[in-house]
Amino acid sequence: MASVDPFDDRDGSLWYDGKIVPWRSAETHVLTHGLHYGSCVFEGVRIYNGRIYQLEAHTARLFESARIMGMKIPYTEEEISAATAEACKAQNITDGYIRPVAFRGSEMMAVSAQNTRIHVAVAAWQWPSYFDPKEKLKGIRLEISEWKRPAPDTAPTQAKAAGLYMICTLSKHAAESRGYADALMLDYRGLVAEATGANVFFVKDGALITPIADCFLNGITRKSVIALARARQIPVTERHIELKELEGFSECFITGTAAEVTPVAEIGPYKFAPGAITETLMNDYANEVRRPDPQVKL
Ligand code: PMP
Repeated sequence: MASVDPFDDRDGSLWYDGKIVPWRSAETHVLTHGLHYGSCVFEGVRIYNGRIYQLEAHTARLFESARIMGMKIPYTEEEISAATAEACKAQNITDGYIRPVAFRGSEMMAVSAQNTRIHVAVAAWQWPSYFDPKEKLKGIRLEISEWKRPAPDTAPTQAKAAGLYMICTLSKHAAESRGYADALMLDYRGLVAEATGANVFFVKDGALITPIADCFLNGITRKSVIALARARQIPVTERHIELKELEGFSECFITGTAAEVTPVAEIGPYKFAPGAITETLMNDYANEVRRPDPQVKL
């Protein structure tokens, strides 16, 4: 993150329930359903060179996450997309990160929350993308998490819902405490799933392999990278991946709005050598997000 200021104590303003308000005044009472019961969905969006990358796709996912959680956002998608742009403008952000969030309010404090108001906020902060391919290509180290991605009938796995991040933070903290950058999570079947905030890809014999997004988020970056690979005639297969298969994969990288395309050198006992395909897609993605009109259609 670009700044070490606490997120509740910053200058400027953000969008909260329909209007731009002073940053520090965007408060929420401690008796808020979203805080106690996880009735909260959010987005992570990036702006590059003054253009919000895949804005409509992120807004659509926010609404879909809310729908899955039974929450009716009291705005249109167009209004939330406009709010996202306004939040950037309010902070004069041209290269940064944007966080739209929707959550249930304080009208009820119990499991049942039918009559709670749905609040929406959008805040933006500076987060330039430092792109040093040489440094990045060394790759990060992941450990294998002890937490498993839940089954689709155990949790609303296609929603970007706050509650699903409990096991991500636990996994990430455990990995960091042992000197790793992040963790690879398996799913409820023991198949390879994703990292704690990013999807995962592997290379074998010049082709890309990535897990089927059937119990985790089908990331917007994941879709962009698949399209970019196909545009270069790199074959892409989405299939179930067993952990032991990692032995036979030559390259690995993770993808996400925050992670962009980040090469991986190690996952537990498995080693990878970030190579030509990873580098190509890293560069293609860096160009894609900065293109005036993104070529990639999701
Ligand atoms: N999985 C998880 C758990 C995430 O938090 C993210 C980041 N939103 C992703 C995957 C990647 O999604 P996207 O490419 O849309 O940012």
